[in-house]
Amino acid sequence: MNRIVVLSEDMANKIAAGEVVERPASVVKELVENALDAGATVIGVECRGGGVALIQVSDNGAGIPSAEVAVAFERHATSKLASFADLDAITTLGFRGEALPSIAAVAEVEIVTLSAGEADAPSADAPSADTRSAAPTYLSLRGGQIVSRGSRARSGGTTVTVRNLFRNVPARLKFLKSTATESSHIARVVSQYALAYPAVKFTLTADGREALSTPGTGRLLDAALAVYGLEIAGNLIEIAESKWSPGAGPAAIGVSGLVGTPAIARASRDYLSFFVNRRWVNSRLLAAAAEEAYHGLLTVGRHPVVILNIALPAGEVDVNIHPAKSEVKFANERAVFAAVQRAVRSVLTASAPVPRLEEPAPVFTAPAGVVQRPAPVPLESLLDTPPAAPATTPLFALPALRILGQLAASYIIAEGPDGLYLIDQHAAHERVLFEQVMTERSQQRVAVQGLLEPATFTVTPPQNEVMKSLANELAGFGFTIEPFGERTYLVRAIPASLGRNDWGAALRELLDSPPGGAGWPEKIAESVACHGAVRAGQALSDDEMRGLVRDLERVGTPHTCPHGRPTMTHLSLSQLARQFART
Ligand code: ADP
Ligand code: MG
Repeated sequence: MNRIVVLSEDMANKIAAGEVVERPASVVKELVENALDAGATVIGVECRGGGVALIQVSDNGAGIPSAEVAVAFERHATSKLASFADLDAITTLGFRGEALPSIAAVAEVEIVTLSAGEADAPSADAPSADTRSAAPTYLSLRGGQIVSRGSRARSGGTTVTVRNLFRNVPARLKFLKSTATESSHIARVVSQYALAYPAVKFTLTADGREALSTPGTGRLLDAALAVYGLEIAGNLIEIAESKWSPGAGPAAIGVSGLVGTPAIARASRDYLSFFVNRRWVNSRLLAAAAEEAYHGLLTVGRHPVVILNIALPAGEVDVNIHPAKSEVKFANERAVFAAVQRAVRSVLTASAPVPRLEEPAPVFTAPAGVVQRPAPVPLESLLDTPPAAPATTPLFALPALRILGQLAASYIIAEGPDGLYLIDQHAAHERVLFEQVMTERSQQRVAVQGLLEPATFTVTPPQNEVMKSLANELAGFGFTIEPFGERTYLVRAIPASLGRNDWGAALRELLDSPPGGAGWPEKIAESVACHGAVRAGQALSDDEMRGLVRDLERVGTPHTCPHGRPTMTHLSLSQLARQFART
């Protein structure tokens, strides 16, 4: 053990930076927040190499007075908090004074800034122009230390340029994901702030190409159209600002924003955006409240699109609970939950007709009129699921089955050597298709269907980053997709396994799937299988059922679908005998 010493400033900054700057997108977030705090109406973000090579954020905000620029890079230097009391009612996005020093500790930073006051100063009473105070300030920092200063031409506002992020923190660099993934995180940050501030004109350029551009009209729907495209924007309903005061206390909670119809529900929660006093936050509470409002309107595993701004008195929310300021704590969680749930629900019910989903039919119900013996063993408890078969052993492979019929247009009833099998037709078909497309791909003989008319396909900025990195993989599975302008693609052919189903939904789900987990080939195959498979509720002919069961008998792991859910359940003859008290 060493002696206890106070860490050097450089070490302290690097440690603080670890919390504030997790990845390139965190840098973008901090710089965009600073620009917004400075009152900017135009914010340009440029990045290269996933933000590792370069991040540049330019704004037309208030700028920093020349005498204060160097101070801004010192730890805990902020112009946004004057007294401890201010901490109870923060109205700016920043307040910790940690972003600039943290970024400077882990990257090479340049700043050019001209403060509004100084730009206007040398006018009437200084006719010969005091050029020194009017000149923009330029600073360049390495390892957190200023290495050069001077001036550069620019009009009022600030440009911060960050290069070679984490070059001096190899451990962090190692944990970054692919350039495409990091770019998509950056696109997400800029998209979210574009939604939070529709009056600000945002542009994002990634590796020289424009990834996003919002008009800055002040209308949330215009920003949503720029971020999400027409398919989503055309299905968003506006919440007429709803103010709600909980019984106790006068604090009114305002909920405004846009709510997606169930028709555009998504497979991930990525389309739930929450802003608390226009700060982008992650909040399980808010997500639960919004999803609760969709209760009965969405199928399991689907999540709504919502963009909500929750406005409440600054004293009612603690924003100082997270180093990256991305989580908040509400003084009255119940009131906030209720306000959000009501606001969303009222829009959804007002915008009927939204069909109510039917309750799923229970698997085994006794036919009406059959008198049950007292306290029977519940049938479900007898229906046990065979263990998932390891891919290598044919031990659990299916025996030959004889089809007896279809139940609830969803399950195939079959007889095997040892009793009854109930097969979930969708899950079973998913498994069959999954194996089929994986095999076809590895043997490079994928069955393809050309579209009669090539279709255009538009993606969001984060989806676009994934799309670009997946081009080859998708081609390997039978998609023929060509770039067709910014964020639009022309789709000419799709895997034959998708049948007549919605290939667009399959692609979109794939582009939204979170990084990590299975590899891309498996994810693509899963998505094709899921969307190509017969649905529950679809009546099948005897031949179709027989074909499906034969195919299932042939695959290596017939007992689970690619997501790991069971494809079938089995009731053995001995279990039946017990059920009928024959033993
Ligand atoms: P914080 O935002 O928490 O105050 P930062 O380290 O992000 O801390 O910034 C330090 C200070 O530098 C800010 O308080 C602000 O005065 C100034 N500043 C940073 N970026 C900008 C900008 N884009 N425009 C104007 N002032 C800025
Ligand atoms: Mg800041």
